[in-house]
Amino acid sequence: MNKSLLMAFGGVLALLGVGVYWWFSTPHSAAEQLARATAYQQKKMAELAVWEVQDPERFEATKDEVYQKIITEYQHVQTRFPESNLGDEAQLAIGDFYADQLDDPTAAQDAYQQIIEQYAGSNSHDDALLNIARIKAFRREDDRLKLEAIEDLKTLIQTFPDSGLADDATYDIGRIYETIDEADAALEWYQRVLDDYPDSEWADDAQLAKARIYELHKADAERAADEYGKLAKEHPNSDLAKTAQQKKDELSRKVIEDATHTTHPSRGGGGGRMPFDFMHQMEAAEVLRNEIIAAQKLDVLAYDLDIKLDPNANSLHGTARVTLQNQGDEKDEISLKFCQGITILSIRNGDQLLDFEHEYDKVAINLPVPLPPGETLTLEFNYSGVENDAPSWSGDQIDPHGSYLRFESKWYPQSHWGDLFTVNLTLSVPQPYTGVSIGRKISETNTDGTHTSIWQMDQPVFAIVVAAAEYEIQKGNFAGTPLTVYLFKEDKDKLGDYLQHTKRIFRFYTETFGDYPFAKFDVVEIPFFPGGYGPPSMVMITEKSVKKGDDAIPLLAHEIAHQWWGNKVSITMTDDSIPWLNEGFATYSDALYLESQGDRDDLVQKLDELTAVYFKAIKFQEDEPIATCKWGNPAYQPIVYYKGAKVLDMLRFVMGDKTFFEVMRTFADRHTFQNVGVADFRTTCETVYGDSLNWFFEQWLYQPGALALEIDSTQVTKQDGQYQIEVVIHQDPPYFKMPLDVKIDPNIAERVWIETGDLHLHFRSPKKPKTMTVDGENWLLKMPSQQHLKRDLSNDVS
Ligand SMILES: [Zn+2]
Repeated sequence: MNKSLLMAFGGVLALLGVGVYWWFSTPHSAAEQLARATAYQQKKMAELAVWEVQDPERFEATKDEVYQKIITEYQHVQTRFPESNLGDEAQLAIGDFYADQLDDPTAAQDAYQQIIEQYAGSNSHDDALLNIARIKAFRREDDRLKLEAIEDLKTLIQTFPDSGLADDATYDIGRIYETIDEADAALEWYQRVLDDYPDSEWADDAQLAKARIYELHKADAERAADEYGKLAKEHPNSDLAKTAQQKKDELSRKVIEDATHTTHPSRGGGGGRMPFDFMHQMEAAEVLRNEIIAAQKLDVLAYDLDIKLDPNANSLHGTARVTLQNQGDEKDEISLKFCQGITILSIRNGDQLLDFEHEYDKVAINLPVPLPPGETLTLEFNYSGVENDAPSWSGDQIDPHGSYLRFESKWYPQSHWGDLFTVNLTLSVPQPYTGVSIGRKISETNTDGTHTSIWQMDQPVFAIVVAAAEYEIQKGNFAGTPLTVYLFKEDKDKLGDYLQHTKRIFRFYTETFGDYPFAKFDVVEIPFFPGGYGPPSMVMITEKSVKKGDDAIPLLAHEIAHQWWGNKVSITMTDDSIPWLNEGFATYSDALYLESQGDRDDLVQKLDELTAVYFKAIKFQEDEPIATCKWGNPAYQPIVYYKGAKVLDMLRFVMGDKTFFEVMRTFADRHTFQNVGVADFRTTCETVYGDSLNWFFEQWLYQPGALALEIDSTQVTKQDGQYQIEVVIHQDPPYFKMPLDVKIDPNIAERVWIETGDLHLHFRSPKKPKTMTVDGENWLLKMPSQQHLKRDLSNDVS
């Protein structure tokens, strides 16, 4: 009611002229006198406002007299027309004048108080109470008065339940409680605004206040996101809707990230040092750059790198010889990705120095002699850089505590994502550091205080990664493949454990997915980002994870799974070659490893935990199909990794264990050292399964959502010594076609298919049915409220 008035505290209304007519005519009634007073106030206050600026002396000299005249005009309503019933309204106007225009809460409170004392039965009683309470609550610094104000407002609501100000009073009680940090009481009263006065103009403010309290007082980001979301959804026309939506998005991102990281820390993508929004922008730039670079059709065939890392100086010096082949049109300029934070000293083609431009993580190189289609070219880059916290290094680090360079930081010149190449690398670090890289270790020397190691990767891979630190090392092997664990000195006691776990994981994966493809395997500890990282022939596990002891083993299993899913079989991150093919697969692989060390219950429990995060994420972030969900979506990990793993489990359910594991082995064998897409996987699935699986891929990869099932009704009748059991299972849209295990104790177990709408089932049994269970082994991705589809039938017999 008084919202606009409240907002206009101290504002001067310059409505000059509105009441001029009234002023010149003599009032014959209280109503005319009241109008005259209002007009006089407007006219005089407008005049004073002008003088205040143009003639401050005159303003100061006359203002008090003018104010008194305005008050007197209002007082005339009662003095000249004592029989009228407008005296209280005039008094209310005087109170407002003191409160809003003269900023004199004491005088205002007196004026309002007179209404209560002198005009019993006045229609303005509720206004007076509200205004007095607001003065006590918001214009005084006294908590005792605030509590008094709450009592005044409660009186207002009780005494005048039908007052148009009851919603104001309710909202104000919430506000007062909030200012004195009584969060629960404030929430209760804001909620009353929403429940009792859903159409109040304060409803959006009350909703906002609730969200704010959950965010700031209660530090409950999840609930706050929910409340901000309600405001945006239920009050779309409110001024507050846009801000609420932004807050919701921001908090949702936080909630999803927190849930994701506590459940299953994994490849961090170097995000640890950067605010998410910034990464998001970087990612957008990355996509654009990737598109430009991919369009050139330049294929790097081989790298020959000579890299010197100096952790003490945080620096890198390198020479990279890059042999590339032109698979596109003739070119007189080529572009490669290269870290902005590293200085390129020169680029040569043989003896010839080439011109280049290096900006935005991209180097454009002029070729004096155009490169014809099909031709190869070897360029030699000389470069040098000091790693600092600048985002251009994408979170990578060169530091005495531990150094690591992942391909994402573009520390060597790169063509498109998914490019496959072989590598020769010489890595030098000052002693006592030890360098590690991908590929087979050809040699290792310590000369003149420098540790130099030479690495050779003969298989085509998509990434070059190096790490260096003062490592403690333990060596072993799995079926002839050298395994080496590199841990920081303080984690020395865990070397043996890591070696044992690695062997166990290798045994399981080689038996399940086929041969390990590389010449060696290393487990390497690095200092930063939460989680791990699985480039070809090694995994990097962060210090934080290593400190967790056995709790980090699922992570180790996930990263080792990338040797098959991502490295042996690689992906390009194009529309068909989606991250599910490595991340969903690796996540499911570590769940399978867990199952292999225990039983199916362990896998089910793990998948339940993961899909719970997915369901939580899609409460806050619109669900998206696995196939289109990209890095940058806050729900990327929940959708691609977690739901993605569950989708593989459902595929296993559809096919049966024997066929499913044959598919996984065949897929890895058939596409060793190739980039694959979803179509390749589907082809393998259909070939081995012997039937079309279009329906499965269509609904689980290209559509969002999960099954929403319930047991709608059950009926049991007894006829000729047989029990007839009628069951209706209901599915809410969007509909999924899936097999469904239905079990009725003690003697019925059937696999049926659900497709659309209601499924009517009829069973016959000589034995009295006890309980019915649908999907009792929890194979299907079902909405969280329907995790347990179970019904007691023992009392159903009619
Ligand atoms: Zn991964």
